This record gives sequence, C-alpha cells and structure tokens, in this order.
Amino acid sequence: MNTVNTAQTIELSQIVSDFLKEEKKLFINGEFISSSHGKKFQTLNPANNEVLTEVHEASDQDVDRAVNAAKEAFENGPWSTMTPLERGDLIYKLATLIEENKQYIAEIDSLDNGKPISEVLENDLPNAIGQFKYFSGWASKLTGQHIPVNGNYLNYTRHEPVGVVGQIIPWNFPFMMAAWKIAPALATGCTVVLKPAEQTPLSALYLAKLVQEAGFPEGVINIINGHGETTGSALVKHPLVNKIAFTGSTEVGKIIMKEAANTMKRVTLELGGKSPNIVLEDANIDKAAQGVFSGIMYNQGEVCSAGSRAYVHSSIYDEFLEKLIALAKEVKLGSGLQTGITMGSLVSQEQKERVLNYIEIGKAEGANLVCGGGSSEQGCFVEPTILADVQDDMRVSKEEIFGPVLVISKFHTEQEVVERANDSAFGLGAGIWTENITKAHNIANKLRSGSVWINCYNATDPASPFGGFKNSGFGREMGSYALENYTEVKSVWVNLG
Ligand code: NAP
Ligand code: MG
Repeated sequence: MNTVNTAQTIELSQIVSDFLKEEKKLFINGEFISSSHGKKFQTLNPANNEVLTEVHEASDQDVDRAVNAAKEAFENGPWSTMTPLERGDLIYKLATLIEENKQYIAEIDSLDNGKPISEVLENDLPNAIGQFKYFSGWASKLTGQHIPVNGNYLNYTRHEPVGVVGQIIPWNFPFMMAAWKIAPALATGCTVVLKPAEQTPLSALYLAKLVQEAGFPEGVINIINGHGETTGSALVKHPLVNKIAFTGSTEVGKIIMKEAANTMKRVTLELGGKSPNIVLEDANIDKAAQGVFSGIMYNQGEVCSAGSRAYVHSSIYDEFLEKLIALAKEVKLGSGLQTGITMGSLVSQEQKERVLNYIEIGKAEGANLVCGGGSSEQGCFVEPTILADVQDDMRVSKEEIFGPVLVISKFHTEQEVVERANDSAFGLGAGIWTENITKAHNIANKLRSGSVWINCYNATDPASPFGGFKNSGFGREMGSYALENYTEVKSVWVNLG
C-alpha cells in the first residue's frame, strides 16, 4: 500500500481532546441527558480501530421524549410564534458558530469517519455552512399563491411546516448530512429529531452544543444517537412524527417506506446509486481521466452519487485506462489527520470487508483487476481499485459497492452508451465528458438520473437540487425544492359574496 510517514500527524485541538472525554449524552429538549436504560455504544477510529469514546444510546422511551419535546416546541414553544426573520437569524447564527468551530468539527469527523481532514475543511464544512446560510434566507421567503378561481372567492395557499420531522442520516459525510437535513427543516418552521449513523455519532453532538449556544428554543433540534434497528426504527414508527427524511441504503429505505405507511408519514428518501460516468471520443482526456478518477475515489468512494461505472469510447479506452492507473498509483493512503494523504480509511471493518468481498466477486465474475485490490492489516484502508473489461451483467456493475472501486468498460456508439447507462436499478448521478456541448446536452436529456454533470462530477451547491430517480429514492435535497419536503400546502377559500 502507498502510505505516508506516520510522523506527520496533526495534533488534536485541546477542545476536541476535551470533547472526546466528555460524556456523550442525548440532546433532548435543549439539554444533554443520559439514556433511560443506561446503555452506551462505542465509536471507533477506523484508521486504527481504536475506541474513540462511548455514546449514549437512545431507548424507545428516549425517542418518545425527543419526539414529544419536538412536538411541544412545534406547537407551543417560542419557535411556533417566531417571525420568519427571527427564525432566519437563528439559523444564520448557527452557520456562524459552525464557521468559528470549523477546525474542531473537522478533527472530529476525520477521526470518527476516517476521511482526510483537508476534505472536511475544504468540502464538507463549507458545504454545511452554506446550507445553513442559504436556508436562513428561505425562512422569510416561503410564500404561497393567490389563485384566480371561479366565483366570488378569494383563494390563496399557505405553505405550512409539516411538523415534527424525524431525520436519519448515514456515516459518509456525518456533519454535512446533518446540515442537509436540518437546515431546510428549520427554514420551514419544522422541529427536528435527528439520528446520526452509529459509526459516526460525534460531530452531531458537537453541533448540539452549537445549537445550545445559538439560543434555539428548547426542543426545536433534538439529536439522539443509537442503532438503526432500534432507535431509528422507533423514530419511524412514532405516531407523533409527521415526516421521515432518510439518507442511506436502498434496502433500509424500503423498510422505512413500508413502516411509515402505517402512520401515513411523509417520506423522502435519498438512497444508493451506481452512477455512470461516460467519456466520449472527443473528450479532453486528461481532464476526463482526472474527473472520472476523483468521481469515484473521492471520500474513499463512500459517496452515494459516486461515478462507479465508467463507460469509455473504444477508440480511447486503452489510453484512458493507463491514465486512471497512473492516478491510482499517486494516491497516498493514511489516517485522516496525517498531512500529505489523499485518501483516508473506510468507515468500518464491516465496510472494508464488504468492499473487499465485492472485489473478489468481480474477479470471480471475470473482471480484470488492473490496479489496487489490496488492503491494510490494521485499520480499514482499501487501495483505489479498478476492475476493467467489466460486463454489464456482472454484480460489480449492477450493485452499489460504496468504496474506492471503479468498474470500467468500453462502448462504441452514443445510443448504446445511453441505453447501458440507463440500464440500472438506480438513477442518482451521471457524468458526461465531451468537448461537443450539443452532444452533451442531448445525452443529458436522455439520462434517467437526478443529477447530470457535464465535464465535472459531484458538484453540489445549497441552491441546486440533489436526489434520485428509480431506486435512488425520491424528494430533492437543497435548493427551493427541499422546502417541499418539509411543507404542506393549504388552500384557503374566502367567500366575498
Ligand atoms: P444504512 O443501514 O442504510 O444506514 C443509514 C442510516 O439508517 C443509519 O443512521 C442507520 O442506523 C439507519 N438505519 C438502519 N436500519 C434502520 C431501520 N430499520 N430503521 C431506521 N433506521 C435505520 O446504511 P449502512 O449500513 O450504514 O451502509 C450500508 C450500505 O448503504 C453502504 O454500503 C452503501 O451501499 C449504502 N449507503 C448509502 C448512502 C447514501 O448516501 N446513499 C450512505 C450510506 C450508506 P445505524 O447506522 O445506527 O445502524
Ligand atoms: Mg467511528
């Protein structure tokens, strides 16, 4: 494995060392409280599998407390009568506090998740701060319509908050996912119970401290850690939760959707993907190789919209593959806090084994392992891996691996590649690399996915919607579209006769 010298490790801030020593309680009704059954679970640093700290696990009773706190805050607390501008100010204040605490949050997420701290500082946190800033503005811009109906009536619509929102998030971008969920819900006036992933419970608890410091009324934001099958499931089943917003695997998304039906909860799901990245004959090869490579390898490949299937025109396939292999060889693996690394560890031993298992499946199916495939003895590192000459019916071409594994194959015509790109159960992202912008737009129109990136990949912005077609889920995060996830429309009729 290509690693860096372990001596160059960033020293933890005193604030983070102290934070790790504190009890990690539940944040309910504006206070940190112990779990009712006293159970805790460990969170590990996946770079060395050492225990970072223990975290209180929310019982059914704790979930009930959190939901009731959120309901009380929604119906009767100061939040319910705040003006939109006041609400926006609070959300903006939270953004400012996150900005001031950037370094600490970055250290925490890097330790808990394994990702390079530079990426948390350069991507996850600016993005998360952007969400709160962007949605703070929306708090005062949620207007309905005045509709010219038949008869002597005044008819208008109100976009009202859906109520108590349960939010369940994954471990790949722990802090950023919390921001994607919480910011739009607050802008609409909802109250929130957030359950982070058990692998990465820490940065959301740091956020809870900032929520307190910002002065949010009690119960508006509640953060409860725990396991999916217990804490997460109790949140989904709770009759007082009006809506569940979930990001994670398609498998769990289906469970949640079924369960939510019993209480007629609103549901939005941001699920897995197997996103195609298409390189046409006339692409700028160097830029495309760099883009396809980072499109899958960024964040160790643990990205729902990762460009995990590359389709490269047959005339440039060999040259392109050489360039990808050269890029893979440059990758420096190391723990997230080491300087000079370009890839961190996967999130857990389980995820490492899952990814290695897929590499074995790919080889057994006849794919050609052209680079990578190795892993660390200690910690959860997997080398950037490329499986070439992959056939569309192989499992590695159909299933989400969620790790640094690219499958690549050649194509001959545009029509063929569009059909093959669309022949997937998923539809989250897609990339097109070409210097012919007319072709690019035409292909973009035909791809069945929630995002299409032309000569770039995985670009996101708080103002632009993100979400899936098909098994990648439904509902859109970010932009004005995200507001629809958290509002009900009411039509009001006034008889003017
Ligand atoms: P997951 O099981 O779908 O977990 C996502 C979240 O859902 C976590 O907070 C999890 O809690 C919770 N959860 C699990 N079972 C639940 C249930 N029955 N009811 C309510 N909540 C539940 O994903 P994972 O196990 O972490 O990863 C497995 C695979 O999912 C990955 O390999 C990848 O393919 C995919 N994935 C996709 C995304 C994405 O952004 N689309 C993100 C992460 C993973 P706990 O973690 O506490 O169990
Ligand atoms: Mg951890």
